[in-house]
Amino acid sequence: MPKKPLRFAVVGGGIIGVAVARELTNRLDGASVTVYEKEDKLAYHQTGHNSGVVHAGLYYEPGGLKATLCRRGVDLLKEYCVAKNLPYDQCGKLVIAQTAEESTRLDAIFARAQANGVPGVRMLSGEEIKTVEPNAVGVSALHSPETAIVDYAAITNALADDVRQAGGQIRLGQEVTSLEQKEQGVVVHTEDGSEHYDLVVACAGLQSDRLAASTGEPSTPRIVPFFGQYFLLGPEARDQVKGLIYPVPDPQHPFLGVHLTKRIDGEMMLGPNAFISFGRESYSWKNINLRDVLNYALFPGFWNFARRNVPSAIREFQTVISKRKFMSEAMRFVPSLEGASIVPGTRGVRAQAMNGDGSLVDDFVIARRQDMVLVRNAPSPGATSSLAIAEHIVQQALEGRTIPGPAKMPSPLSDKGSAS
Ligand SMILES: Cc1cc2nc3c(=O)[nH]c(=O)nc-3n(C[C@H](O)[C@H](O)[C@H](O)COP(=O)(O)OP(=O)(O)OC[C@H]3O[C@@H](n4cnc5c(N)ncnc54)[C@H](O)[C@@H]3O)c2cc1C
Repeated sequence: MPKKPLRFAVVGGGIIGVAVARELTNRLDGASVTVYEKEDKLAYHQTGHNSGVVHAGLYYEPGGLKATLCRRGVDLLKEYCVAKNLPYDQCGKLVIAQTAEESTRLDAIFARAQANGVPGVRMLSGEEIKTVEPNAVGVSALHSPETAIVDYAAITNALADDVRQAGGQIRLGQEVTSLEQKEQGVVVHTEDGSEHYDLVVACAGLQSDRLAASTGEPSTPRIVPFFGQYFLLGPEARDQVKGLIYPVPDPQHPFLGVHLTKRIDGEMMLGPNAFISFGRESYSWKNINLRDVLNYALFPGFWNFARRNVPSAIREFQTVISKRKFMSEAMRFVPSLEGASIVPGTRGVRAQAMNGDGSLVDDFVIARRQDMVLVRNAPSPGATSSLAIAEHIVQQALEGRTIPGPAKMPSPLSDKGSAS
């Protein structure tokens, strides 16, 4: 007698959750897949509030999950956008050093990029910068010609269409209140009732520690929300920059610093800065969530982090309260922006996991627990890596399982350097 197909649930309708659902329907013929998303549309949080950059893999520790899944993610994402006729603009990126000391650090990033197999990267002298970005200045620069921009919300919606076409369900407006491991399988609880699944994957972004805690897992690493505000350059100055211009990351500061990012609709964004948010899902100052604030205010790790990062907090706070300061950060790279107008753009909130000692969790963290897989840390380049993260998770989830019915072969790219 044929066995019943496996039943899978995915919690979270951001790009990672929907990519996992699609990978399950791709890999397993007839699998029943249900996505639970608490908002009334997909890509509502980080996926719909980010820079839209397809990172090439410059900065990440070679051999780590970020480095491996980012590189593979780029290949998969590009292939997907081409197949689905979704915009993919390979506009390129410059990381510009402004001092000799930054230049030395940039050389180390160049070595890392080469170790990660980033195609086409090269170092430019101060004069050569102008061959790529005529209005940019600096002591030296790293050019990554294949760094690209996309619309991650549109990609998520296309992935969701694939899931529906394969018979999967996307349930919007359905918040999962807890996950309960049974002797076999997992019960997903919502306000509307409970359902049993053979396997559940939780990709809950800003709520990932809470969902993990509902299963009995420790609530640390804790999600501490840092917002990133963007500004948009006035139309008169938009053409002064062709692609993406980034500062050299400073090891003294936990986030990248203000950069210039072309958006897929032709707008030019400045930002994001990084400052503690008054709510995990708060997109304006008026929106304060006391539960979220208390959650980090009572977490010793946050205060350890805060004590160590006073200079960064001061630097970032200046860009929070002063548009001029924000602009002057961008003018270090493109002085001709002097006098250009800027208007506030969107704000995003990073789901950044923090350890009890206040250190930020750097790599992706994906934990298998019996019949659950919990994504506990998927910050940038999480969107770039999403299709590769999905392959990795499904591989992990199916390990040691007997699959009823035919399992399909992975896509042709899958045997080329998967991290799993
Ligand atoms: C400011 C900013 C800029 C960034 N820039 C880039 C970039 O340029 N390139 C890049 O690759 N990455 C970037 N990132 C990172 C990237 O956005 C994330 O890695 C990626 O979106 C993570 O996807 P996700 O699906 O895990 O999370 P999310 O998109 O946050 O989705 C999680 C979903 O889970 C849902 N959810 C949570 N709890 C529950 C529950 N209990 N029940 C049901 N649903 C639930 C939420 O509503 C949400 O829709 C950036 C992030 C930020 C914040």
